[in-house]
Amino acid sequence: MRDQLFIDGRWTAGSGGTLPVYDPSTGQEIHRVAAAGPDDVDAAVAAARTAFPSWARTPSAERARLLDAIAAALGDRAEELARLSSRINGKPLAEARVDLEDAAGTYAYYAGLARALDAQQDAPVPLANPGFEARLRREPAGVAALITPWNFPLVTSAWKLAPALAAGCTVVLKPSEFTAPLDLELGAIAEAVGLPAGVLNILPGSGEAVGAPLCAHPGVAKISFTGSNAVGERVMETAAHGTKRVALELGGKSAILVFADADLDHAADLVVSGLFTNAGQMCSATGRLLVERSAYRPLLDRLVARARALKVGPGLDPATEMGPLTTAAQHRKVLSVIERAKADGATLVTGGGIPQGRGEGWFVEPTIFTDVRLDSALWREEVFGPVLAVHPFEDEAEAVRLANDSDFGLVGTVISGDDARAERVAEALEVGVAWIDCPQMVFVEASWGGYRRSGIGRELGPWGLAAFQEIKHVVRPKRG
Ligand code: NAD
Repeated sequence: MRDQLFIDGRWTAGSGGTLPVYDPSTGQEIHRVAAAGPDDVDAAVAAARTAFPSWARTPSAERARLLDAIAAALGDRAEELARLSSRINGKPLAEARVDLEDAAGTYAYYAGLARALDAQQDAPVPLANPGFEARLRREPAGVAALITPWNFPLVTSAWKLAPALAAGCTVVLKPSEFTAPLDLELGAIAEAVGLPAGVLNILPGSGEAVGAPLCAHPGVAKISFTGSNAVGERVMETAAHGTKRVALELGGKSAILVFADADLDHAADLVVSGLFTNAGQMCSATGRLLVERSAYRPLLDRLVARARALKVGPGLDPATEMGPLTTAAQHRKVLSVIERAKADGATLVTGGGIPQGRGEGWFVEPTIFTDVRLDSALWREEVFGPVLAVHPFEDEAEAVRLANDSDFGLVGTVISGDDARAERVAEALEVGVAWIDCPQMVFVEASWGGYRRSGIGRELGPWGLAAFQEIKHVVRPKRG
């Protein structure tokens, strides 16, 4: 595992001490990685600023070539990096392999968009006034600070870094302090493919020591943040000083709606994958299950059986279907959410504790609650763990009203045998992504992001690229 910062194309020890890296399946420290200090933040931003003019002017086809090379390098190293991800994040290896495919696919997709960029520059803009002409340019926003969480390490960074590089931005990436060795491998890949020095800088470190000063740095033009609401709102306040561009991908408390005419075995599979994947540590976790009353008991029975059958264990064990939580703090938090839900009067149907024989590490049982009060923390707040809250509804209108009654609006899933109804409900959900009758399929061509407190802006697709661009119109009297 790497243990140094990556600044201006060089590996360096850093001035912020070191950070522990843990194996979440044992709770043991397995590595230490250098942490950045204030001087490193200054050095990384300076390197990115120096590299910016040349990178911004690099033909977009050349930027595309380098992005393709990053995609290929991730593909070549996919198995090794998936194993590292599983080891330090805790997720089952099969899920980590999917993450690597997603990350490589994201770099390849933005290579495609980058390749077309130069030809699209200076597109004429039709004006009603016959005396003038205007043309449109899309220019890189400048130095971008990218701040990511630990739940999908190489994926969240790819969703930011690939479009940032495609647009012509230079970057300072601050990965989560819990999974930094994984994102540091991007530095090695950048070196291997010949990305110019200073275009990508990587600073492991805590939020307070590195994230906050990076966001406040006057040399940073754009902040793209994925993480919790508490921190995201602080980032937005910081961005206000200097009117920095800011994109926020924050939390969720998403609903999955099951109508009685659905195939309930299929519905149970989708509920399980929508919550217990990555041990529920997904911003898109559908932690609120709304079930039509007549299907309530049969679906609940299926879910309890599936939750009890899930094999919980270390991510690298091929038999594992759900791994541990990634951090000790998250483990404490999820167990306290469970206690609070009980105190709030919810009925614990299954799970609720540490699985038998898994006292080491940060495991929690797949957990299901019913009789959940609609004003309780369990119904309204993000858990970020494998805890499902189930509630019945009487009809379509009530289902939609309950689903939308949330501070968040990231995703939603609707499962019904009546396609017209599923379409109606998907349209009515106030969310960034609505899935009909399918698992949480995320496509790089489609957008990611949410309504309300789930964030500001959209990642992926052309929207992800636009987030790193400034729009300029050149206007002049009409020529000849
Ligand atoms: P977090 O907010 O604690 O940390 C996220 C990142 O911000 C980390 O790199 C952290 O070091 C950094 N940070 C902390 N304090 C900072 C500060 N003051 N200034 C700048 N940076 C700071 O979140 P987490 O616990 O790592 O991740 C879990 C959260 O992320 C959940 O709320 C989840 O919903 C959210 N998330 C959202 C999406 C999405 O696409 N909407 C995706 C994944 C995770």
